[in-house]
Amino acid sequence: MRETAPELSVVVPMYDEEEVLPIFFERMHPLLDGLGITYELLVVDDGSRDATAAMLLKAAEDWPELRVVRLLRNSGHQAAQSAGFRRARGQYVVTIDADLQDPPEVIAEFIEAAEKEDVDVVYGVRSDRTSDSWAKRTTARGYYRLMSRLVGKQIPFDAADFRLVSRRVVDAVNALPDDGRVFRLVIPWLGFPSTQVKYVRAERAAGTTKYNLSKMLRLTFDSITAFSAAPLRLATWLGLLGGTLSALFVVGALIVKLSGRGIPGWTSTVLAVSVIGAIQLLCLGLLGEYVARLFQSSQRRPQFLVGYDSLEDHGHQEPVH
Ligand code: UDP
Ligand code: MG
Repeated sequence: MRETAPELSVVVPMYDEEEVLPIFFERMHPLLDGLGITYELLVVDDGSRDATAAMLLKAAEDWPELRVVRLLRNSGHQAAQSAGFRRARGQYVVTIDADLQDPPEVIAEFIEAAEKEDVDVVYGVRSDRTSDSWAKRTTARGYYRLMSRLVGKQIPFDAADFRLVSRRVVDAVNALPDDGRVFRLVIPWLGFPSTQVKYVRAERAAGTTKYNLSKMLRLTFDSITAFSAAPLRLATWLGLLGGTLSALFVVGALIVKLSGRGIPGWTSTVLAVSVIGAIQLLCLGLLGEYVARLFQSSQRRPQFLVGYDSLEDHGHQEPVH
C-alpha cells in the first residue's frame, strides 16, 4: 500500500491533542478500514509540545495506513492543512479536525455524494451549532456573511474545514502562488462543482480548543486581506469624508474670519485635528495590513517546515516544504 497512491487521504491537523488522540484513533481506525477502499490517514502534527508526537509514532507502528508528518514549529491550522494538501496522495482528500467535533462517520457520505453527483467538492455543513458557545456562533455568523461579500461568491454558511475534495482541487490549490491560504474561502473561490452534506457538530470529545482569540483574529485578517481590497476602498471613502469635513471647517473658519468676529477658537482647531488624525490613523492601519501582506509574500518565507514524514526515510531530517 505504501508504494501506490491510495484512493483516499484523510488529513488531520493536530496541535497538542494528546487527550483526544486515543478516542480519535479508536473511532477512526475501524471506520476507515470498513470503507473498503485504500486510504492513508495523514496526521499533520503542527509542532505539538505535549505527548502527541510520541503517541502518533507509537500508533503508526502497527497501523501502516497511518502516516505522520511533523512540522518543526506550530504554524497554525491553515498552514497544517497546506502541508497536508501538499503531501496527500489520495484521489480524494478529506480534511477533518482531531477533536471529533466533525463525526468521521460522515466521510462515507462525502464519498458517496462525490461519486453520485460527480462533483469535486463536498462541503460538510453544520446543521446546528448548539454545541458552540453563543459568542462563537455570533462571531462565526458575522465571519461567513462578511466573507461571502468579500470573496464575491456564496461561501457555504457554516462550512468549516470538514470537507472532501478531488485530486483536481488539491492540485489547483497547491498551484496557487500565495501562501496566505484560507481553505474555506479558497476552495469555493476556485469554483469547482460542489455539493453539501449536512451533519451535526458535536462537542469537543476531550481537551480544550486550540484556537485562541489571537489565532481567530489572525484568520479573520488573513481572510480579508487575501481576498479583497474592499477595506482599502473603505479607507479611501473615509479619507474623502475626512477631506470634506476639514474643507467645511476651513470654509466655516473663513466665513467667521471675514465677518470680523475673530478667528475660531481652540475647540474647533482641536476638533479638526483630532478628526483628521483619527481618520489618518485608521487608513494607515488598513494600509499596514496590506503592506504587511506584501512584505510577507515578497519574503517568500515558507509557511511551514516539515521535520518528519513517516512515509519517507526515517533518518531524513532536512527541513522541506
Ligand atoms: N490546530 C492546529 N494548529 C493550531 C491550532 C489548531 O493544527 O495552531 C488543529 C487542532 O488540533 C484541531 C483543529 O486544528 O484538530 C481545530 O482546532 P480546534 O478544535 O481547537 O478549534 P475549534 O474547533 O475550537 O475552532
Ligand atoms: Mg474543534
